[in-house]
Amino acid sequence: MPNPRDPHTVAVANGIATDPAFRSVTPPIYLSSTFAFPAYEKAGPYDYTRTANPSRDLLADTIAKLEGGAGAVVVCSGMAAIDVVLSRAPRGGLVIAPHDCYGGTHRLLGTRQQCGQIELALVDLGDPAALAAAMARRPALILIETPSNPLMRVTDIKAIVAQARAVGAKVVVDNTFLSPALQRPIAFGADYVVHSTTKFINGHSDVVGGAVIAAAKEDVEALAEWVNIVGVTGAPFDSYLTLRGVRTLFARVERQQANAGAIAAFLDNHPLVRAVYYPGLPSHPGYALAKVQQAGFGAMLSFELTGGTDAVRSFVEAIEVFTLAESLGGVESLIAHPATMTHVKMGAEARRIAGISDSLLRLSVGMEAEADLIAGLEAGFAAIKG
Ligand SMILES: *Cc1c(COP(=O)(O)O)cnc(C)c1O
Repeated sequence: MPNPRDPHTVAVANGIATDPAFRSVTPPIYLSSTFAFPAYEKAGPYDYTRTANPSRDLLADTIAKLEGGAGAVVVCSGMAAIDVVLSRAPRGGLVIAPHDCYGGTHRLLGTRQQCGQIELALVDLGDPAALAAAMARRPALILIETPSNPLMRVTDIKAIVAQARAVGAKVVVDNTFLSPALQRPIAFGADYVVHSTTKFINGHSDVVGGAVIAAAKEDVEALAEWVNIVGVTGAPFDSYLTLRGVRTLFARVERQQANAGAIAAFLDNHPLVRAVYYPGLPSHPGYALAKVQQAGFGAMLSFELTGGTDAVRSFVEAIEVFTLAESLGGVESLIAHPATMTHVKMGAEARRIAGISDSLLRLSVGMEAEADLIAGLEAGFAAIKG
């Protein structure tokens, strides 16, 4: 086996110039839903696209290599990725998840609990006593989101893996907020990594997709079987576009996080800002851990205005360059108001417990010029009546 290539090279070059038909440099896209049998009772390498497809397989192989896993399955959304991983828990098995997880994940877990598929413990992973109490209940799976959405809390993957091993649980890390360019959870012992590839991995806000990467080969095989059974595999065209996005992953993330760092510093000194949540600020409680666990601080941050919902309304209506929209990780900058957008379904009480106030705004910082981004924020602040 040759040495594994550096992830920068994998992102750019995996599958390049491997086309056996015409030696095309960019791998071709195979849209066909079905593949001809070479002979009676003899299938070729592919038979039906729900089961396997060359364009999707190349994306899965690339993402698996970037995460350092044994393999991956590419599915039609980030939610499908999380649901597929839940299928690895036995019926009625306990799943521990962060109390401040992504809103859609919160809804999925709650619904799966209501149907009796899983038991659920929503826990503040930063509270050792609460975590120990949940661990004592013998969980099957532990889900981590780090940094968390939207408050950017950083969770120690290695420490949770050690506790999970002791009780025979498997650890799943949702790596959507950083991408493998900045964090590789399998290196810290995670069993599964899930992605909404909709976000940084595709990076251009034009595909909805997901992926599950497994550290062990037998888990990859079980996942591949399950996604075929339930039919949630990703479309070939989406896989092609997503791989096109992956080519520039490192360059995008590098520039986006440089912009985010500058914005965090700007907001941190602003009189109309009560708090800034960005792991790259030395005042952030997760700063030291992020420095060892992550290869960078990422391009996501959130902050609280000093004013209430009137200030929020004025700010988001006057802000420039940033677009008021859900989602994240694209080349363009977005702003979201979690309480009325991404986390609205969570309900006011769950938001209060998770620490998501009505004055909180989340930024996904893009690749625009830093000065224009800051000027865009200044336009928002100027509209807040003092
Ligand atoms: C967006 C997101 C998801 C869900 O992904 P979809 O592609 O929208 O289904 C899951 N986890 C996190 C952290 C996300 O940001």
